[in-house]
Amino acid sequence: GSTIGIIGAGQLGRMLGVAAAQLGYRIHVLAPAPGPACDVNNAFTQAAYDDPQALATFAQSVDVVTYEFENIEAAPIAAIADIMPVRPSARALTIAQNRVEEKSFVENLGGRAAPWREVNSRTDLDTAIAELGTPAILKTVRFGYDGKGQARLHSADDADAAWDAIKGSPAILEAFVPFEHEFSIVLARGMDGAMVSYPPPHNEHKDGILARSTVPAPAPVAAQWTEAAALAGRVADALDYVGVLTLEFFAGKDGPVFNEMAPRVHNSGHWTIEGAVTSQFENHVRAICGLPLGETAVTGNHVEMENLIGEDARRWPELVAEAEAHLHLYGKGEIRPGRKMGHVTRVRRD
Ligand code: ATP
Ligand code: MG
Ligand code: MG
Repeated sequence: GSTIGIIGAGQLGRMLGVAAAQLGYRIHVLAPAPGPACDVNNAFTQAAYDDPQALATFAQSVDVVTYEFENIEAAPIAAIADIMPVRPSARALTIAQNRVEEKSFVENLGGRAAPWREVNSRTDLDTAIAELGTPAILKTVRFGYDGKGQARLHSADDADAAWDAIKGSPAILEAFVPFEHEFSIVLARGMDGAMVSYPPPHNEHKDGILARSTVPAPAPVAAQWTEAAALAGRVADALDYVGVLTLEFFAGKDGPVFNEMAPRVHNSGHWTIEGAVTSQFENHVRAICGLPLGETAVTGNHVEMENLIGEDARRWPELVAEAEAHLHLYGKGEIRPGRKMGHVTRVRRD
């Protein structure tokens, strides 16, 4: 069988590895430190994400390269694409890891984002506040996840604190969207351009971290599904994308408002492991290996995925004893506040 090279050793790589193994593939993980993906790996290279020599050797030892983490330098990834196919492409990675590029790209394809401005200096911030008003959110252009690298401004008086909080990194100021629901479109696109997408989960966050995803989403989200999925499809086609792609949205009162995209499998798609005919992980493996994509239909009437964050993980003995609860633990060991330790999925047939 063939070997899939995965850059990144987190829980997404672990679940990709399980799906890969089921289809007869081996995986080879590259990351600066061992992580959850190493428990299911067949080979592990410990190296920095931007070590060109290590990346080249890694690429030579596998049959396709993918990544489960977007906060890596794109240039060394682009360089190994000459040795081995990288799916999704380094171009998709470059755009999706940068808030200025991803918003511009999606707006050019007819998508609507919250009004935003680039902020590269303290003066830019004042200008942006004057133009967009408050409340607003200052977000670093790169490297943010789980709400890190963000500061909320309730009024212009918060400008100094917000600027300090992001330590003067290149940023954008974004108008606050008064949304009632958040949702995401998770799709898979194959090497032949074929595309499948999942019904959109309703995503609820706590402290900037995804807490729960439920399918089907409430009516206001369902009403925006078609428009959001069509936009996600245009993004995937425009990138000649191969693999799973996720777009996050707010259900605004005038239609879907694009938030950000992730060039990978996504936490809001974990429900698909037991809740859909084919999981997002299997569809990613299928896509990057040139196999036909699998059905995305829901297997029950209601599916709920709950993240186990920090101390939540201590509930595992009760969760593993619960009939029909599918418990996933990522084997991370030490519990830390805000750390994603696992998740639990309930598929209800009633
Ligand atoms: P992720 O872990 O999904 O990559 P992230 O750190 O990149 O998260 P965002 O998705 O930009 O951050 O924001 C995190 C959450 O903060 C959003 O899911 C949403 O709940 C809230 N949020 C972000 N931007 C806005 C906005 N413009 N208006 C209202 N709420 C927002
Ligand atoms: Mg993000
Ligand atoms: Mg997000």
